[in-house]
Amino acid sequence: MAVRAASHRIGGSLLEKLLNADGGGYEGVSIDCGNGHRARFVEHRQKALTTVLSNVDVTRAYYHCDPCGDGVIPKDLILDIVDTGFSPGVRRMMGQVGGKEAFDDGRKDLEVLAGVLVTTKTVERISEVIGEQIERQNRSERKQVMSGKVVPFVSKERVPKLYVAIDGTGVPVVARETEGRKGKDETGKAKTREAKLGCVFTQTTVDEKGYAVRDKDSTTYVGAIETAVHFGSRIYAEAVKRGMAQAKQVIILGDGAKWIWGIADEHFHGAIQIVDLYHAREHLAKVAKLVHGVENRKFDEWNSARRDELDNGDVEAIIAALGRLRPNSKGTQKEVRTEIDYFRKNAERMRYADFRRQGLFVGSGVVEAGCKTIIGQRLKLSGMHWTVRGANAIIALRCCQMSGRWEEFWESRAIG
Ligand SMILES: [Zn+2]
Repeated sequence: MAVRAASHRIGGSLLEKLLNADGGGYEGVSIDCGNGHRARFVEHRQKALTTVLSNVDVTRAYYHCDPCGDGVIPKDLILDIVDTGFSPGVRRMMGQVGGKEAFDDGRKDLEVLAGVLVTTKTVERISEVIGEQIERQNRSERKQVMSGKVVPFVSKERVPKLYVAIDGTGVPVVARETEGRKGKDETGKAKTREAKLGCVFTQTTVDEKGYAVRDKDSTTYVGAIETAVHFGSRIYAEAVKRGMAQAKQVIILGDGAKWIWGIADEHFHGAIQIVDLYHAREHLAKVAKLVHGVENRKFDEWNSARRDELDNGDVEAIIAALGRLRPNSKGTQKEVRTEIDYFRKNAERMRYADFRRQGLFVGSGVVEAGCKTIIGQRLKLSGMHWTVRGANAIIALRCCQMSGRWEEFWESRAIG
């Protein structure tokens, strides 16, 4: 431990010399402020910088622009340390742990693994800043895609099948984020906000049994707590980025949620829409349970007959069978009518035999797993209550990391 600390200190003093070898990055008596004015040189200023090796003092030429009323420090831009006392390397580490685990655990990991001593609050703040920077990049990409000005993805090989899978999951939030929203528990007050998550992946082949195989490392994720309208452009932009324009087939996978199919109709016109088979099966099991009870031969009979019809994509037979049910209670009658409505509305999204013949995925397991890993394992740990802003920053951070874009993000920040 002591040895490592000493070597860190030596490395640190070398780094300090190196960082100050330019004499502060003086670029003359005046420079362009970035807004078309001249900013004049004032003095050299010191900044205490926490780096991976140690704390160092960095000398930087400070300029001031009178019209803007702002200071300009070219060297901070070059070193990517504008408005922060942490080097990109240290911030990256904080984002790495802050995206992965609770901020306090992240702080401990930084201390043990890297000898970097910071507060829990700092890990939280920097992780959120990084998430917000990622989101800012996403937003400007999205703007370009939505304006239709760019062809963002051109590849020689056409993507055979491109899937867009969408789901929602609750994130526990602080009380003020749910004011006036209805919840499901006995208090009637909402305690969570829905995060929408989407993933895009591709498929080239099927296995020997004819089942769809997802292309390795082809899954990217986007997500946020936001309206369906905003999420619609988010997932659309992601699909475009992934080469949707060149895909031979586009498939939308989701459960029965109305907002998902609203997005599909608006942004993915002509795509094949598929309701997750396992959700549809749950609907059947629910009816069977209501009408026949669980510990019952009739439950199994009815349920397995409907499942066969479902596998065959014979939704009309299911609707007919539901129509033949004569439950006694008014409540159950109403439930059955709701289910008939569900199967009617989604009939074309349940032609499973046909989808299987085409070698398509019929389950949205990928996005459900995504909800568990990206949201559940980080944002839904016990005792956690998020602000929407904080949650969205961490969701952006995790989506970036899980999509294999973390490296790319830091490279995009490096100047020169
Ligand atoms: Zn200016």
